[in-house]
Amino acid sequence: MTDFMASPFDQRPAAPAPIAPFPDTELEQPFPVPTVGLAILRGLRGQCPRCRRAKLFRAFLKPQDHCPACGQDWTHHRADDFPAYLVILLTGHLLAPLIIAVELAYELPMGVQMLLWPCLAATFMLSLIQPAKGAVIAVQWRLGMHGFTRPDRKAADALAQTESSEQQA
Ligand SMILES: [Zn+2]
Repeated sequence: MTDFMASPFDQRPAAPAPIAPFPDTELEQPFPVPTVGLAILRGLRGQCPRCRRAKLFRAFLKPQDHCPACGQDWTHHRADDFPAYLVILLTGHLLAPLIIAVELAYELPMGVQMLLWPCLAATFMLSLIQPAKGAVIAVQWRLGMHGFTRPDRKAADALAQTESSEQQA
């Protein structure tokens, strides 16, 4: 029989367990520290430069606050406009020779060129900007720039700390 005295709130599912605070990854080094080149390669691919197991970006140009796989804090990056400068530099150097070559070979009508080159430039830039940002973040992390601590130095510090605490014990 239905218990009319029971309020629907009595059967509320238990509150979800509070999300465990992020593990203190400052001292834990379960992932081998990649070389600068490898970190850049991972950043270019949009992978976490530290562990490669998760995506670096949660949106087109928004990096994750913390890596869901290794817990690395990405909020310290200061990529700012640098990826855009890199992309402008690259796009210019790729497009300028192409424009000259096509102009010399085909003499396209001006209307076609006014449509073609901006569209091509936009395509280049949109496809390069996320890899560029990933690479910049990877370099900043690997070299310990801004708020990041160099991962290799962090590992050495953690090792020295455990050794000194073992000596004291
Ligand atoms: Zn990671």
